[in-house]
Amino acid sequence: MSVLTTVTRAWLTRSFKPFHFTNTYDNTLDYRETKKLGLYVHIPFCRSLCDFCPYCKFLYDENLAKSYIEALLKEIELVGKTAGAEKKKVTSLYFGGGTPALLAPEIKRIMEQLNRYFSITEGVGIELHPYDVTEEKLSVLKDAGVTKISIGVQSFQAEYLQLLGRGNFDYSIMFRALANVYFETVSMDFIFGLPNQTIEVVKKDIKTAFANGANHIAIYPFIDFTFTGRNFNKMTNKEKKKLLYEIVDYCNGKGYLRNSVWTFSKQGRAKYSSMTRENYLGFGCSATTLLEDQFKINTFDLQTYRQRVNYGNLPTALTLHFTRRQRMIYYLFWTAYSLRIDPQEFRLYFGESLEQNYGFELWLARVLGFLRKENNQYVMTTKGSYYYYYYENFYTLSYIDRMWHLLKKEALPAELIIR
Ligand code: SF4
Repeated sequence: MSVLTTVTRAWLTRSFKPFHFTNTYDNTLDYRETKKLGLYVHIPFCRSLCDFCPYCKFLYDENLAKSYIEALLKEIELVGKTAGAEKKKVTSLYFGGGTPALLAPEIKRIMEQLNRYFSITEGVGIELHPYDVTEEKLSVLKDAGVTKISIGVQSFQAEYLQLLGRGNFDYSIMFRALANVYFETVSMDFIFGLPNQTIEVVKKDIKTAFANGANHIAIYPFIDFTFTGRNFNKMTNKEKKKLLYEIVDYCNGKGYLRNSVWTFSKQGRAKYSSMTRENYLGFGCSATTLLEDQFKINTFDLQTYRQRVNYGNLPTALTLHFTRRQRMIYYLFWTAYSLRIDPQEFRLYFGESLEQNYGFELWLARVLGFLRKENNQYVMTTKGSYYYYYYENFYTLSYIDRMWHLLKKEALPAELIIR
């Protein structure tokens, strides 16, 4: 696996230089001129911790949560005050976790703090656990300014909820709440690739979602992180590939619009993606930031996070200062997630031609049937999306797994070198 990622990285970046993340960091981030900037806020608390979940999360504790929010507001101030006299225009804001709705009354405060420095133009999204989808909570979030919600259902089937350590759950309260409180996007997340999961099982989930308030769904493959728990056998790659094709065929047949590798919407307008931003600022423990010149990730350790910001320092644990080629690869990898690569957008971002930099790779991808050209854009085919998944899985296990594993063990590691 590491050989594959090493060869691919060296080929695409035209260099044997590894990704070298260091513990030196910029205390002032230069994003004033950055276009298409998004915001992300991480709330790391959950009622209980699911075995399969790789994210940075902690059991909810009222005092811990209170002190976290104060530190978070401080971090927003530290980053936000460099925006300048005028508010910085940003596209969207996403709250992820953890279970952000556990702190629903605080969401308004966090947004007020962000609104001091940023002007959000394309809406505010939040991830919800099904437990939190009640009329009362939805009204609080709507009142705070949330316009899109994404509910981590994972499955409606009792058998799979048991497998994922979720237990039984009565969804009628959630369905009633969704019928009574309107949001522009209601997305539901599902996992595929679980044992014996057939297309009939997935179809049942999709039908139930769209019949009960969702206008958008995200169907993610199960990824087996080395540091998470799993008490079942994984599906083989061949089985996963077959299932992915069946899901795409089913959704196409129903006229659902595929708007990214894993997402489909019932209405074209409905979108929910915290992943396809060209640039973003992340706040909170474990949050990442992606700018033109760097990628950085905050510490996973709550105490270190609080200490850093209370002393007026950013809580960055590791930073990668990009070479130009590395930045191009980050750009293409995350843009491809939206199933389209627009050469004009690439030129706007880098001031260079996409074809001149990656003409051979684009030609090869077309010959192999991974991409086709449509209206001067490169569009990923179903076959391409399967191989994208395949490579994303390698990438996730070779890069993200290693980084998160390290950051879960060490608050501020000296460095991380990924070859
Ligand atoms: S899956 Fe959701 S609820 Fe479960 S531990 Fe992860 S963030 Fe928390």
